[in-house]
Amino acid sequence: MLYTLSDEKFVKALSADAEPILRVPDGATVAVDTKDCYENTLRAENDPRGPYTGPKGGGNPATGPIFVEGAMPGDTLACDILSIDVGEYASMRISNRGGWMRDRVTEPIVRCVPLRDGFAELAGVKMPLDPMIGVIGVAPEAGAIDTETPGHHGGNMDVRLIRAGTTLYLPVAHEGALLALGDVHAKMGDGEMCVCGLECPAKVTLRVRVIHGRQEQWPVLRGEDGSFSILASGEDLDDAARFAADGMLGFLPRRTAIDVNELIMLMSLVCHLEVCQVVDPLITARVRLEAGAMPELEF
Ligand code: CA
Ligand code: CA
Repeated sequence: MLYTLSDEKFVKALSADAEPILRVPDGATVAVDTKDCYENTLRAENDPRGPYTGPKGGGNPATGPIFVEGAMPGDTLACDILSIDVGEYASMRISNRGGWMRDRVTEPIVRCVPLRDGFAELAGVKMPLDPMIGVIGVAPEAGAIDTETPGHHGGNMDVRLIRAGTTLYLPVAHEGALLALGDVHAKMGDGEMCVCGLECPAKVTLRVRVIHGRQEQWPVLRGEDGSFSILASGEDLDDAARFAADGMLGFLPRRTAIDVNELIMLMSLVCHLEVCQVVDPLITARVRLEAGAMPELEF
């Protein structure tokens, strides 16, 4: 049975107190419609969809939360990303108020970019789409974390590699996990330097599975190529990078018989320290164990 969720009900915080809008059994497949980060309200003057007249958006709307039956604190929620179907248009906005290069922006710009036949074109540069999920996370044990901020719970991690064919492993902190997702980008470069990607509405189809009784400290992504990335966030890039390396050094010893010192040597050879995003309230980095380095490795 395929469960479906429209984009009508969304949250702007991953919260232990949020009321679930859908309950699904362990192993369910859910097709989730998501709004873009501007709540589908950002329209350029020349937008063929015409001016938007609804409420003004702000923050990342994340569709959910979804209660996954059987998920308990201490478990892991595995999210198999089966497909990401993007809408017909993406939006972008830059100004001198946000982004890593804001000081260099001389004029605020809003652009709507058609997404056609798997390609987008901006400033005469045609590029293949590579859809990814910007916000996907579970509720913390208590309290709430806004959907601008990444962390142990996932959230606004803006990881280019969270695409169809991958599995994201999220540490469950609250009964039912309370999964929510949104902020899909039709394409984004590592770093998301200008503060946005090709922001678009989408339909994300994913399968949720509960792994009982164990979890990692940070979200872990199994790439479609079999690579494993630890996704960590911190106050700055140095912190994020160190947390990601520590995370890998927690992940590997539980799955191999290799001595920790040799693992540290190996990490310097077959693990890659990469930037996810540098523009959110916390910065996100990943350490990625390259595909094929340890082919027997499983989550
Ligand atoms: Ca984002
Ligand atoms: Ca975004």
